[in-house]
Amino acid sequence: MAEQFDVVVIGAGPAGYHAAIRAAQLGMKTACVDAALGKDGKPALGGTCLRVGCIPSKALLDSSHQYHNLTHSFDQHGISFKDAKIDVAKMIGRKDAIVKQFTGGIAQLFKANKVAAYYGFGQLQPGNIVKVKQHDGSEVELKGTNVIIAAGSDSIELPFAKFDNENIVDNVGALDFTEVPNRLTVIGAGVIGLELGSVWKRLGAEVTILEALPDFLPAADAEVSKLAAREFKKQGLDIRLGAKVSKTELSGKGKKKEVVITYTDASGEQTLTVDKLLVAVGRRAATKGLLADGTGVKLDARGVIEVDAHCHTGVDGVWAIGDCVRGPMLAHKGFEEGIAVAELIAGLPGHVNFDTIPYVIYTSPEIAWVGKTEQQLKAEGVAYKTGTFPFAAVGRAVAMGEPVGFAKVIADAETDRVLGLHLIGPNVSELVHEGVLTMEFHGSADDLARICHAHPSLSEAIHDAAMAVDKRAIHKAN
Ligand code: FAD
Ligand code: NAD
Repeated sequence: MAEQFDVVVIGAGPAGYHAAIRAAQLGMKTACVDAALGKDGKPALGGTCLRVGCIPSKALLDSSHQYHNLTHSFDQHGISFKDAKIDVAKMIGRKDAIVKQFTGGIAQLFKANKVAAYYGFGQLQPGNIVKVKQHDGSEVELKGTNVIIAAGSDSIELPFAKFDNENIVDNVGALDFTEVPNRLTVIGAGVIGLELGSVWKRLGAEVTILEALPDFLPAADAEVSKLAAREFKKQGLDIRLGAKVSKTELSGKGKKKEVVITYTDASGEQTLTVDKLLVAVGRRAATKGLLADGTGVKLDARGVIEVDAHCHTGVDGVWAIGDCVRGPMLAHKGFEEGIAVAELIAGLPGHVNFDTIPYVIYTSPEIAWVGKTEQQLKAEGVAYKTGTFPFAAVGRAVAMGEPVGFAKVIADAETDRVLGLHLIGPNVSELVHEGVLTMEFHGSADDLARICHAHPSLSEAIHDAAMAVDKRAIHKAN
């Protein structure tokens, strides 16, 4: 006999745990099922994001950034040192402790909110029943008046570069190297390739990134991508565009094992021999084995769960959110969908505004944006104006020794409404929210320009960029 719940959530990643906690807050009897185990073999809630994604990657980005500053920029502050060394085991241990703190934190939040946690693989059966195969081999059935599927995503594997978790790895392996590889190749110059490529480059690896497309970071504003490409090149990241990998082979034995990569670019066929290969060519919805026959939930050709604008699958009481449905694969997009669906189930007006989702790449300089790029607006035939301001003219950025980058405000040519904010530079992962807020409140470039910004602060780049939209920036010639 299945235990009855108001809401059963499959998956305790960012989307699922938000949905479960919000549903419980709203007074619904809620269960959440998750299959994942941590590095210690014990159940670990929090999904890709907390275990092998957002948080561990940022921990390593921060460690490697500190090391890079110590070896490259402390000197200009008059700080000297001898024999800087990186203890990779200690750095990974710090990252693991952060992961444990946060995955354990979700378990505590579930307890505090009375969300019943079930540890095992859940499969949706017809009639809103979730059959859970628990880690001890036993099975339990949960019936939900509503079921929210938040199964997330897995790395895409290339048929000619199968993961062996030693020399050919995905994000999981690249977050756990036991030493700095001498030579690392990444397939895919996307977000993971750039972030994890930066980590190991800063620690001393020779890093080559092979990207199939002819353009670099096409989703970002073209001026941002151009500056980013220049900065990454200066840092020694060897990014090769239009590079199509056709074959990988392992050679050698044990610690001497190498990966021989064959790819073709504009100059013809090339080979590269490296110690480690990270494949970061995107992720796919984790829907394998998730649905029993007859549930009525539809998958598209790529295994993505089909939903409407409110994350409803079309089957009575069955919803799907996060990476396993359409839209950007971002933790905060999943957060918002989780909350929105819990609120919709409770009869409240939940919604997610896809137009104001911020995008961040945590490289150095950081890249962040919200809204439309110039290339998108041109393609849509929207008349717009822009204002740009460089961090090199922002006192705080120069005092920090981080003058590279700029802020660009894009506003509607007629109404002045902000259509986009594009940033590359120091701490722009935080600054981008100024654009998110302005756009959520339908603000104009003039609104941004008239808001008092603290001096000296990095946010002054946005203030002056907003003033530059009407050619009245104070700290540069217009
Ligand atoms: P997931 O986080 O994938 O969670 C799904 C959970 O469901 C997992 O625990 C899984 O084990 C479980 N599950 C799946 N199927 C079942 C089943 N049938 N039964 C039981 N349990 C199941 N995004 C950002 O916004 N910012 C970042 O900085 C960022 N950095 C990233 C870095 C890396 C290296 C990676 C790989 C991703 C990063 N992302 C980042 C993306 C982010 O991690 C995902 O968008 C986010 O985790 C998706 O949340 P989710 O809840 O939809 O799925
Ligand atoms: P991605 O989509 O960002 O980048 C994949 C890249 O690989 C693309 O540039 C693509 O053109 C290229 N590619 C695809 N097939 C290829 C091939 N055969 N050969 C060479 N290049 C190929 O995907 P990702 O970097 O794997 O990240 C996965 C997801 O995780 C993304 O959707 C991203 O949103 C999310 N993520 C977000 C953050 C963040 O928000 N800071 C960080 C990491 C990951």
